[in-house]
Amino acid sequence: MNNISNLEIIAKNLIGRESITPKDGGCQEYIKNELLDYKFKCENIDLEDVKNIWLRKGSKEPLLVFAGHTDVVPPGNLDEWNTDPFKPEVKNNILYGRGASDMKSSIASMISATQRFVKNNPNHKGSIGFLLTSDEEGPAKYGTRKVIEKFKKENTNIDYCIVGEPTSSNKFGDTIKNGRRGSLTGYLKVIGIQGHIAYPDLAKNPIHCTGLLINELNNYSWDNGNKYFPKTSFQISSIKSDEVASNMIPGSTDIVFNLRFSNELTQDDIKNKFEELLSKINCKYEISWNCSAEPFITNEGELTRILQKAIKDTVGIDSSLSTSGGTSDARFISQHAKETVEFGPLNKTAHKVNESIDLNDLNNLEKIYYATLCEILL
Ligand SMILES: [Zn+2]
Repeated sequence: MNNISNLEIIAKNLIGRESITPKDGGCQEYIKNELLDYKFKCENIDLEDVKNIWLRKGSKEPLLVFAGHTDVVPPGNLDEWNTDPFKPEVKNNILYGRGASDMKSSIASMISATQRFVKNNPNHKGSIGFLLTSDEEGPAKYGTRKVIEKFKKENTNIDYCIVGEPTSSNKFGDTIKNGRRGSLTGYLKVIGIQGHIAYPDLAKNPIHCTGLLINELNNYSWDNGNKYFPKTSFQISSIKSDEVASNMIPGSTDIVFNLRFSNELTQDDIKNKFEELLSKINCKYEISWNCSAEPFITNEGELTRILQKAIKDTVGIDSSLSTSGGTSDARFISQHAKETVEFGPLNKTAHKVNESIDLNDLNNLEKIYYATLCEILL
């Protein structure tokens, strides 16, 4: 295995460019140079400290877009890494480095598949696009969201979009994401009356009120999910009260919680129900919300069918459609593209120390993207 493939070189070149969110580390410039010879036109859309790049070959329909992010999460504890996270290394046919799973290997596969496809089929129909941002792992404010707003204004219509997030869970190829759950965070302050712990009648304990609320919430079923979505889940991430002496009842309690919700509910449904449950605890409160993602679903369509066939032909696996996991930029693209799906490598090592990809999976991912290009643009 001494002859290193073009694909492996691209993957290593991307991993070797340190691009901790929102930094791009020169990845997009490198990608542009890889594609310029293949007649791609390039537009840099830099906003604040975020780099976005839009590369397009051709102007005809259908437009197939490969989308993703060049930024990565920080490496974490360097002592736990067996290699330098930004010096890609192959050991026993496994490529190690930050971004090997999420998602520089996917970008490398998209580039290599496109180069091969255009070389073999210079007169293919339609167009190919690359939409990449350096702001996916961070606040995701000036990245894909903004580029999609621009596309809407300019009538740049996307027919098919593949986002290269690592979606495989147990075996490479087992999962395609055709939607994602919504994410709603609540910041609740339960307001009691501060007082002496020996005279509880003169005070109102906000922690006790909070306990009642948690009990109500634990017993409440938001929905049962549906064919694509698991049940909506409610989780508390922190509860804090004023720091008081042990003989005091605190004046207020702050609770942060999050719901991952299905498309059976809207954020307003959740907010209304929450206020209803809150009214039962007979305590004053203040609440604010942040909805970082609405749930979305791409129906089983042409793209899911084509990808499923490409996966089956390449690795012999029947992949399933799922909406599990966290949010991704697909939430923005799906508002505009006709079909948006996410498909990429195993996510077992994503965001972890010693992040990696098996080179067989890398090669197969490239083949799957290549087969998808052939199916849509020939
Ligand atoms: Zn990612």
